[in-house]
Order: sequence, then structure tokens, then C-alpha cells
Amino acid sequence: MATADPDCLFCKIVAGDIPATVVAEDERTVSFMDINPATRGHALVIPRAHARDLHEIDTDDLKAVAAAAQRLAARQLERLGAAGVNLLNSNGAAAWQTVFHFHMHVIPRYEDDPLKLPWLPASGDMDDVAAAGAQLAR
Ligand code: 5GP
Ligand code: ZN
Repeated sequence: MATADPDCLFCKIVAGDIPATVVAEDERTVSFMDINPATRGHALVIPRAHARDLHEIDTDDLKAVAAAAQRLAARQLERLGAAGVNLLNSNGAAAWQTVFHFHMHVIPRYEDDPLKLPWLPASGDMDDVAAAGAQLAR
């Protein structure tokens, strides 16, 4: 059982204590849809084990997150019609991190989409978040 922090939002998602649209899982990682998507299909990959950021994450977990992000990025091209993908990982409040459990944003990009980084988070259309999640899920 991976180490969890009882006060951490993403540990609660890993434990299934709060709901998330999970699109992929493996021994070390969980991938789920971001509720405030920067673009359609924006997902997050996290290690099951709690680690605050890049400085704390176990190296094997980091490798597993990278591999999961690579698989998810391929699905975003195949299934959502994305033309590109941004991987984004923020470490520390000064670098825009707001949830302090390591996560890799996997953000599909579409020809001429209007996204500018950093994006201003805004609540997503939850029906469409779920629909994009269904397209990405195994
Ligand atoms: P950060 O700003 O730390 O790089 O990214 C945190 C991300 O987590 C944000 O994009 C935000 O929309 C997402 N997020 C925050 N709370 C929740 C939640 O309860 N569920 C899901 N699925 N995503 C969340
Ligand atoms: Zn955590």
C-alpha cells in the first residue's frame, strides 16, 4: 500500500474517497481528468504514493508517471483528434503549483486552439469532461 497523506486531495482520489474520472491506472500511477480543463481532454497523471513535488517523488514513480503520460498523450492524438500535447509539471507555488501531490498535466492541443500558458482555471462542463474521459479510458 503506497504512502498516503490524509489531508491530500489527490491521495483521496487514489483511495477512491472522492470521485474522479479515472482514465488509466497501473501499479504506480493513476490518471484522471482535470475538472478545470485547459483544453478538451486535459488529464493529470499522479503517483499512487504521496510525494509533494519533483524533489520528493521516488525516481521509479517518476519514470512510471512519464510512461503513463506518454501513453495518454498517444490516446489524445488517436481518440480526441489532438494535433499536439503539452506536458506540464509545476513545483512550488512560485511555479504555479496549487495541489501539493506531484502531478503531470497532459494537455491535448488542437490546431489554432486559444490556450495561453498559464491558463486561468475555470470550471469545466462536467458532462463534457466525462465524455472526453470516456474517449480516453481503456
Ligand atoms: P497545479 O495548479 O497544482 O499544477 O494543478 C492542479 C490541478 O488540479 C488543476 O489543474 C486543477 O484544475 C486540478 N484539480 C483541483 N482539484 C481537483 C479535483 O478535485 N479533481 C480533479 N479531477 N482535478 C482537480
Ligand atoms: Zn497525496
